[in-house]
Amino acid sequence: MERSTIVRVHEGLHARPATRFVKLAKSFESEVEIIKDGKSASAKSAVKLMLLAVKENDEVTIRTKGADEIEAVEALVGYLENPLAGLAEEQAPAQPDTAGVTLKLEPTKPAAFDEEIAGALKGVAASEGYAVGAAFAHFPPEIKPERRTLSVGDINAELVRFAEAVEAVQVRMNASLASDTLSANDRGIIAALRDIAADDELRDEVVATINTGSDAVTSVIGAASKIAAQFGQVDDPYLNARADDVQAVGRQICLALLGQADVSLDDIPEGAILIAEDIGAWDLARAPLKRIGGIVCGHGGATSHIAIIARAHGIPAVLGMGAQVHELAKAHEIALDGHRGHVVANPEGSVLDRFRARIDEAAREREALKAFRDTTPRRADGTVIEVAANIGSLEEIDAARDAGAMGVGLFRTELLFMRHMHLPSEDMQAETYAALAKAFAPYPVIVRTLDIGGDKPISGIEFPDEENPFLGWRGIRMCLDRPDIFKPQLRALLRAAVHGNVKVMLPMVADVAEVRATRALIETCKAELAAESVAFGEFQLGVMIETPAAVLIAPALAKEVAFFSIGTNDLTQYIMAADRLNPTVAKLNDVTNVAVMSAIEMTARAGVAAGIMVGMCGEAAGRPDLIPEFLRMGLTELSMSPASIQRAKKRIAELSA
Ligand code: PEP
Ligand code: MG
Repeated sequence: MERSTIVRVHEGLHARPATRFVKLAKSFESEVEIIKDGKSASAKSAVKLMLLAVKENDEVTIRTKGADEIEAVEALVGYLENPLAGLAEEQAPAQPDTAGVTLKLEPTKPAAFDEEIAGALKGVAASEGYAVGAAFAHFPPEIKPERRTLSVGDINAELVRFAEAVEAVQVRMNASLASDTLSANDRGIIAALRDIAADDELRDEVVATINTGSDAVTSVIGAASKIAAQFGQVDDPYLNARADDVQAVGRQICLALLGQADVSLDDIPEGAILIAEDIGAWDLARAPLKRIGGIVCGHGGATSHIAIIARAHGIPAVLGMGAQVHELAKAHEIALDGHRGHVVANPEGSVLDRFRARIDEAAREREALKAFRDTTPRRADGTVIEVAANIGSLEEIDAARDAGAMGVGLFRTELLFMRHMHLPSEDMQAETYAALAKAFAPYPVIVRTLDIGGDKPISGIEFPDEENPFLGWRGIRMCLDRPDIFKPQLRALLRAAVHGNVKVMLPMVADVAEVRATRALIETCKAELAAESVAFGEFQLGVMIETPAAVLIAPALAKEVAFFSIGTNDLTQYIMAADRLNPTVAKLNDVTNVAVMSAIEMTARAGVAAGIMVGMCGEAAGRPDLIPEFLRMGLTELSMSPASIQRAKKRIAELSA
């Protein structure tokens, strides 16, 4: 039995959809093959299926053979054509599998130490904060092939040994999954690893090698490396990353075969500084993060997975240390400055005193600021000033609420698009925005539509090579040219508006026509949703003021929108013509320059005159030294990273006292 169809699974047959598809295929007795571009794979192997790299809109053929071949074809083709139907019972939790993170690094706080610390080793400042603690070295030993040659009589026993090892790994992974402390993201990672451990592709490869007389450990290492290399060659960053997963599973099976325990992070002492070459997804997903005082790694940069997790959990981290980690691993105590990326081994005397003083000072300030957490800041005339949070994922909600955020003033949606390495579906976006709105209701959440440009690649969007990406096809410009990307986002926002106080703002606006074109698209989306009987709500539409053009046409823009949010990060670079990422022109890239402050004031005046809300979500919004100016200009909303909220509330309270 054979049937061809076009794949309508938005994400392609990756990760969760691949798992669902394989589960469905396995529920039939028949053999099931999936064929794409003349290449075929068993649909009962997630690894084989993923390696076929089936994407949305690809044509594939499903071939079945066996007693229930007709039902199997029906069900599998049905899934590919309409993936959301019928599989409700195993829908994963509503959260997207994002680890908590803000997309762009906030500039570091004023330097921790004004002077250099003698003997400090330097790395990448990946998560701010100071820490001093016992060094905890985490360097899992490499597992070497045993290279034993088996006699024919030993082969069966070796196959049994391998099967038992796989089973032991699966039992361990299932036990990890049963833990209720796992986040949705970690659960997803462990479930994916467990599926690889159970996969036919890996098993068949190992069994075939053992049958040639090779011992199980050597066979597993060989099979895992071979499959990992195949993942590495696929032209898809998401699938490339699966290579590490396969190697991690291979390692676990080998350890089980050798009867060895893995070097685990379970025993890390309270407050210790973790020193590692790298920390894999498997280790990180299970690590007791609450106990870790700081992280120092040889690999990694400011946007690596470890950095994202460290920032989300408030763990100071210095990464990209290279071979220096081996020196540090010999130390008994480590001090680290996550603001500047400095690490000191065995700090003593005045260095240790200074670190401890910084840590104490930060702790004292944190404690004192807590008093402002639940206050409602007001201007002297009684007007409430909304102090909101800038976040980029649902995992940051708790930190924002704990800090006392009065809603979200900037939800950077880029992360949803970047982390998954494929375009997020409308449903996934709708769930995310609804969860955000519910978490902060009745406070507003301002969701910024996709602000991505040629400087950051996204799978599924081809960017032209541009001489000046920051002056190029980014933000609202790209979205309006790509309704296939923009409309699902707008539809998702309309659907989420049913669940709370959703507001939407457009990035990089330079022309009134961009707002009007967006409105027209929103109306089309509403008509479509109504025709499909999908529930939706209304949202206020606003614009970011971050181009000089937007400042100059602010009076005209104010007639079109419900609010302004001033993006000082971009506004400063465009007003001053000074790249925000270029340290050589950092002096010019200064929000306090009179040119930038005048632009902010012009914007505020236009907004206030038109009676619309004027807020700010650029970095400057959280600066206590500038807040008095912004309030004087008439801003009534300030949105900032959660860590700055209580200090801002305190500053506003001082002004109206
Ligand atoms: C800004 O430009 O000020 C802003 C808030 O947006 P982003 O930093 O994400 O460009
Ligand atoms: Mg911006």
